[in-house]
Amino acid sequence: MAALSIKETLWASIDKRSEELIKLCSDMVKIPSENPPGNVDDIVLFIQNYLSNKGIKHKLVGPDSKYPSIVAGIGEGPSLVFNGHCDVVPAGDKSRWNFDPYGGEITSSAIRGRGTSDMKCGLGAALFTMALVHDEKVPLNGRVEIHVVPDEETGGSFGTKWLVENGYADNAFVCLVAEPTGADTCEVGQKGQVRIHLSVAGKAAHGSIGNYVGENAILKTMKILSHIDELRKIKGSYSPTQHQVLIDSKDMAEAKLARPGVGNVIDSVTVNPGIIKGGTKVNMVPDLCETDIDIRIPIGLSSEELISNFEGLLHELNLDKVGYKYETSEANFTEVSEPIVKTLVKNAESVWNKRVIPAYQWASSDARYYRLKGIPTLQYGPSNTEGIHSYNEDVDIVDVINAAKIYVGVICDLLVEST
Ligand SMILES: [Zn+2]
Repeated sequence: MAALSIKETLWASIDKRSEELIKLCSDMVKIPSENPPGNVDDIVLFIQNYLSNKGIKHKLVGPDSKYPSIVAGIGEGPSLVFNGHCDVVPAGDKSRWNFDPYGGEITSSAIRGRGTSDMKCGLGAALFTMALVHDEKVPLNGRVEIHVVPDEETGGSFGTKWLVENGYADNAFVCLVAEPTGADTCEVGQKGQVRIHLSVAGKAAHGSIGNYVGENAILKTMKILSHIDELRKIKGSYSPTQHQVLIDSKDMAEAKLARPGVGNVIDSVTVNPGIIKGGTKVNMVPDLCETDIDIRIPIGLSSEELISNFEGLLHELNLDKVGYKYETSEANFTEVSEPIVKTLVKNAESVWNKRVIPAYQWASSDARYYRLKGIPTLQYGPSNTEGIHSYNEDVDIVDVINAAKIYVGVICDLLVEST
């Protein structure tokens, strides 16, 4: 049987079995796996049972048994890896939801609840796809693997980062992260991050004589913060092949975020002092002020260059007793000429019958760990952006069904012999 007809057969099966797919997603939404605190035992057990019932081999791995990842797969050889996290952000104030965030309600057009978009329905579509390919005994030229990870919402150190660092992606030739993107775009790159912990010391004195005696650490910190926006002038740099993606990404950011100039978040540095702590008493001159600053760096700008600019700024201000430490992760991308991008876009455009545009994101995700390992990686998953990390999260049923079709299409194009 030719690859095209295998794909068509599988697409027809997805239509026929769509209720099963939607129920799988809804059942996962009914299991709260809020992070924090990050307990994923119930959802992990549910997914293990699903895989066992489907006859798919899987194992639990990870550095801490409290935060297990599931590695499951079918076939042998170079792997197409799907990745999805099973934790969700907390539902927050339940009175602000129009429905039970953990009801898993299925309406005529949507699945509703915390984690529908981010990202239990993307994960469900990937699990269902793998089970379908297994059920239908599709002859594979390699392996389809899935990494279900526990702690994307708090940084990934128990999940994807650990998996990649411990050899679980060594066999991967491509990776598809089922994070929410919406139907009309796939993510092919994202910004890096520099988190600076700034610690400015002063000299304590009684507040009543503070303008003459002592040294106010808060006022010293303010001098730095009043200049820190200078870092925002730094731009990323892009190769000619990345130029169109950059233009599209900026247009998309403008359209989605609807603020004048917001497209610049894609190719410029952004700076957010997020936490500031200083002083002990109102009538004392504070001798310490600590600030955490979240800086996002565009493609083409290394964290090293950013830090050197930050140091230059401190040097010009010439303040004493200023300390800082920082953590970094680099901006990362996959070229649009990579087969994983081309095949996903082709399948998505044929399923949706509209343009699907590769774009860079302003945020970051676990995709970075695969990319930094040299694995061509993209993100594509069903979502309605409005409810993500907010209230009234839902996802359209048609998006979930089409995501499964697109994942199947990618598997067929990359792993099924077209004879
Ligand atoms: Zn997510």
